[in-house]
Amino acid sequence: MQHKILIGPFSQILPLRGMPLKGSLSDEDLELITDAGILIEGKRIVSLDKFNSLLPLAKEAGAEIHELKGKHCCLPGFVDAHTHICFGGSRARDYALRNSGKTYLEIAREGGGIWDTVTQTRMASQKELVSGIIKRSKRHLKNGTTTLEVKSGYGLSVDKELKMLQAIKQANAELEQDLIATCLAAHTIPREYEGNAEAYLQQLIDVLLPQIKKLKLAGRVDAFIEESAFTAENIQPYFQAAKALGFDITVHADQFTTSGSEVAVQFNAISADHLEASTDKEIELLASSNVIATALPGASLGLGCDFTPARKILDAGGALAIASDHNPGSAPMGDLLTQAAVLGSFEKLSNAEVLAGITFRAAAALNLKDRGMLAKGALADLAVFHTSDYREILYQQGNFKPCMIWKNGVLAFDKHKK
Ligand SMILES: [Zn+2]
Repeated sequence: MQHKILIGPFSQILPLRGMPLKGSLSDEDLELITDAGILIEGKRIVSLDKFNSLLPLAKEAGAEIHELKGKHCCLPGFVDAHTHICFGGSRARDYALRNSGKTYLEIAREGGGIWDTVTQTRMASQKELVSGIIKRSKRHLKNGTTTLEVKSGYGLSVDKELKMLQAIKQANAELEQDLIATCLAAHTIPREYEGNAEAYLQQLIDVLLPQIKKLKLAGRVDAFIEESAFTAENIQPYFQAAKALGFDITVHADQFTTSGSEVAVQFNAISADHLEASTDKEIELLASSNVIATALPGASLGLGCDFTPARKILDAGGALAIASDHNPGSAPMGDLLTQAAVLGSFEKLSNAEVLAGITFRAAAALNLKDRGMLAKGALADLAVFHTSDYREILYQQGNFKPCMIWKNGVLAFDKHKK
């Protein structure tokens, strides 16, 4: 028999269930259960209700009672749908140089840029990569993130990309959180293939993708569509091959120049991420499709440039997720809640829109239907804050951290005990 547990009473539970995937939301749309409890069996939620109505049921069923003292607000555990936290080295020098006014090319000439990370990641052992992922994931967990996407993309050869994906798989096995692996071998054109992107992509098609499939290392394939990386034209055979093998497609789109979101819609991608450069045309296109638009405010903060037009995307009827893009180059902060709160302030997003963007809409950006909301049958992934008013959470712009995290019905972090 599976372990049963009743948690509560919570001053407020925000289930974020049964809400629309697309379009704008107002705070009046948020369901609130007060003086509430959550009954869990195994790793799933059985029931959400008033604590006092669940208590006799729980006792009768022999459930453990995890009684809370003081005021608490419970949200679904957050989902970070876009990270690059598998890497070697640091780019602190790049960050300092960039903020001193050096250009991308000048930094690259001094040995910085993505090639620095590729070199460090290629040199790192799988064990070193695993411990880096674990260290970063644990910090994300304490900040409320119970599901985390992690991309490869700093190996840029068949062997080194496989090493990264193996490291992600191993870290996932050692962590309470769920890591969702994505193959981003098409991150940038490797030096060994300069001027010959097609030959590199062909090798990925012939050797890497079938290996990933065989070893079950990832179910998702991503590519960076940009003038400096892969084009809407040369990516075609690669995405066709990935689709034929059954991979979900996701795209780094419209970060500096447009064309990526068109590719995303063409391939019926699960998500198009970045979109800082998207114009009304791309916004309309995405809004009329099933592609989730994922804003990455951490990259805007890291590079000091414009945010994704999140307000426009929602007003056009699009589905907006918000992710951290945590990576060593452009988004070193890696704090989803802070970034989502700041995006909300700059883009005038309601609490409901921001919270949807890091919960059920973010889960949809990973093609996951069993999380990002609190509902019967959903995973018991909970982010609990020490407050009686959920609005305190975004109001404090990420500085207010959860006091408890539950993952799959297990208490994975508890500030009360530290
Ligand atoms: Zn990225």
